[in-house]
Amino acid sequence: MHLTIKPVDLTLTTPFRIARGVQDVSPNIIVELRHEQYPGLVGLGEASPTEYYGETPAGAAACLKLFADHLGDDPFALEETMSRLDHLVGLNPSAKAAVDMAFYDLIGKILGVPLYKLLGLNAQRTPQTSFTIGIDSPAQMAKKAQAARQYPILKIKVGTGHDVETLKAIRDVSSATIRVDANAGWTPKEAIKTINALVPYNIEFVEQPVPAHDLKGLKLVRDNVPVPIIADESSVTVEDIPRVADCVDGINIKLMKCGGISNALKMIHTARAHHLRIMIGCMIESSLAITAAAHLTPLVDYADLDGHILIDNDPYEGVQIKDGKLILPEEHGLGVRKRADGA
Ligand code: MG
Repeated sequence: MHLTIKPVDLTLTTPFRIARGVQDVSPNIIVELRHEQYPGLVGLGEASPTEYYGETPAGAAACLKLFADHLGDDPFALEETMSRLDHLVGLNPSAKAAVDMAFYDLIGKILGVPLYKLLGLNAQRTPQTSFTIGIDSPAQMAKKAQAARQYPILKIKVGTGHDVETLKAIRDVSSATIRVDANAGWTPKEAIKTINALVPYNIEFVEQPVPAHDLKGLKLVRDNVPVPIIADESSVTVEDIPRVADCVDGINIKLMKCGGISNALKMIHTARAHHLRIMIGCMIESSLAITAAAHLTPLVDYADLDGHILIDNDPYEGVQIKDGKLILPEEHGLGVRKRADGA
């Protein structure tokens, strides 16, 4: 197997602020996977390293260089290959996600089927995705909500101290389904108070109200508010699921947290065994990684796959969004191609 590695800086259309910081560029890495037995076929993968989860762009690139020498010679030996990489180096989930994604893309292309078919899924069953409004003044967030009226579901980033005012301003201009994400920004006490104050604005659920390690706090919040609580930062890998299962109503799975499609599938089935609702989310990613995640969405309840809409230099195209619904491509593998305008 031959792996090439190429950095790509994705630029945000507007600076993206959440409870713990602001971002205006996402330094991602694109990989291309080839096998001499299948000339002309290229498996594509993408890493979006996040410091919060212990990765830097340089670290992820170093990891990928190391992985390039340990990919074996069989594109179908994915389980064995990924387990070899796990033993080679711990953590580094986005680097592993890029490789795992490239393998799935190549396998789909060799077999001549789109990824959702390879996984036995029904492409009609994709959910609608939410569109995220980053933290800003209540008036600005309401303006952005109004501008995003083609999306029937909005995910509102909160954790600011003026969250109730923000929700009121957004509700005044939008009748969209509203989800709220605090990115670990509240104490349990603040969370209970604020969420109960947000309930009159009709919110569907709240994501990660309290810090990741505070599972007791998560459970306390869940027991004292009338809307579902979804774990994101508290639910990173499959091992986290039994620990959070009694504290929340659902989990948010991201390829860049769990290490790729293979691990996301394990998380989906483990979460179902624990009677949890499931969301598939993303980091700031191009259409490449977003499309990979979209292929899994027929298995889940909620999608938050808008990372590619938040950037202005997406190098790829793949999954489309129509009235919020994710439309999976029919081309083989991930079904992702370079954009014709070469953005
Ligand atoms: Mg989140």
